[in-house]
Amino acid sequence: FKPPPIKNEPTLEFSKGSLEWDYLKEGILQLTDNGPIDVPLVIGGQKIYDREVVPQVNPSNKKQVLANARQATKDDVQNAITAAKDAKNKWMSMPLHERSAVFLKAADLISTKYRYKMLAATMLGQGKNVFQAEIDAVAELIDFFKFNVTYASELYSQQPLESAPGVWNRAEYRPLEGFVYAVTPFNFTAIAANLIGAPALMGNTVVWKPSASAILSNYVLLEVLEEAGIPAGVINFVPGEPRLVTDEVLDDPCFSALHFTGSTNVFKSLYSKISSNVNKDIYREFPRLVGETGGKNFHIIHPSANIEHAALSTLRGSFEYQGQKCSATSRVFVPESKWEQFKAILSDNMNQIQQTNISSSSGFHGFVGPVIHQQSYDKLSKVIEDAETDPELEIVSGGKHSDSVGFFVQPTLLRTSNADHEYLKTEFFGPIVTAYVYSDAEFSTILHKIDTSTQYGLTGSIFACDRSAIVEAEETLRYAAGNFYINDKSTGAVVGQQWFGGARMSGTNDKAGSANILSRFVSIRNIKENF
Ligand code: GLU
Repeated sequence: FKPPPIKNEPTLEFSKGSLEWDYLKEGILQLTDNGPIDVPLVIGGQKIYDREVVPQVNPSNKKQVLANARQATKDDVQNAITAAKDAKNKWMSMPLHERSAVFLKAADLISTKYRYKMLAATMLGQGKNVFQAEIDAVAELIDFFKFNVTYASELYSQQPLESAPGVWNRAEYRPLEGFVYAVTPFNFTAIAANLIGAPALMGNTVVWKPSASAILSNYVLLEVLEEAGIPAGVINFVPGEPRLVTDEVLDDPCFSALHFTGSTNVFKSLYSKISSNVNKDIYREFPRLVGETGGKNFHIIHPSANIEHAALSTLRGSFEYQGQKCSATSRVFVPESKWEQFKAILSDNMNQIQQTNISSSSGFHGFVGPVIHQQSYDKLSKVIEDAETDPELEIVSGGKHSDSVGFFVQPTLLRTSNADHEYLKTEFFGPIVTAYVYSDAEFSTILHKIDTSTQYGLTGSIFACDRSAIVEAEETLRYAAGNFYINDKSTGAVVGQQWFGGARMSGTNDKAGSANILSRFVSIRNIKENF
């Protein structure tokens, strides 16, 4: 079939006093006016409320409980697996265009009826400003659904190129034989949508463990899919204690694939549990492991670069959404001859950043909101406090933090005198970037250092005008970044434009927003027929 023509979803501007601004204020009121929202488990289409409750608080205002999520028990997880198995046959038997219609309708519902609810849930719950929420929970989410439909139809049309006379060779795009387990992160509502949506589009059924810190927006997403007609049991929503849910799921013989975004350490532990289960012959098929994990993403600035552009790109790459993107810039290498200029521009701009309560209308546009939760706040505060006493580190700008109202950590620029410092290697997942100033003649040495000093390979950027410097960086850093940017920040991949994913210990690099990732959720049968 031919899917509708595709282009990236345009975003609204939300200028103060505009119609969309008013709608958003109303959307926020509607979401919060009657107190916390009750979020059930959803298993085989049944909503279950009678379980232990875990609150989701507003990270801008920690006294405000936004939602009460239910915690799945082991039996619930078993029931979710059974529901996924039961729903499978009917769902996979639907032609691709019928399954596609569900996701295209969901995309349409988000751009129209659910836009403001989705924005409100993502802003309040995940601490995003209105632009970030619009880019994530509306535009990118819709793009994932629509582009996946187009990519899937292209994939299905790929067939063996030759058939001998009297023979017809063909490929059948079956889903995996069992069910898919989706473990989704707090930082992008769109990622949750893709982690469940991509396997489901290909005819799989899914057991979904959402992040406790994104429960509200993720539940809105599920409601949208239900309204769009997703059959009961195709997506089973089981928030809960991660270890309990995961252990139950991974021990099931019909576990067929993991679709994961989160930390490298958690992915490693799931990977090793799965491989030990493979050795015990627990599974019917080799599970597919699709993961996008951590990063220590770099900006390398060459002396020939436009320094103002490099500094402002670092501001955005490091501090937008409080640095809580896997792709956030967290180490920056600046040539000695340009350091003063770079530092002045970056610090000046950092000093103008206001921290805001994203959930009140005066803060809708604020550049920096809160970090996600107490645990993250505590960890980031410690990183800053340790930097204060470390002789190899200097706090160049920022460094304040307070959790009296919400979880606020000021954007912080550190400088280290040691090119091998731990702060250039460890992912903090917050608004902290560490700079190393190199002597201009050492550009090549620094490229090698960037390449070899961490386990990661997610994103990174070269800022330069000199073409030979760009070429050298591209060559030396070939595997240091799955997404490599030339004169742009390390964040902000757009579905269908920059396929997203990292190599090395940053993930399996299956590229979200491309046909490649969809191919991981099919198990092709080749059929040869003699006439
Ligand atoms: N795709 C996002 C970007 O390019 C990052 C996704 C993530 O944080 O996992 O900035």
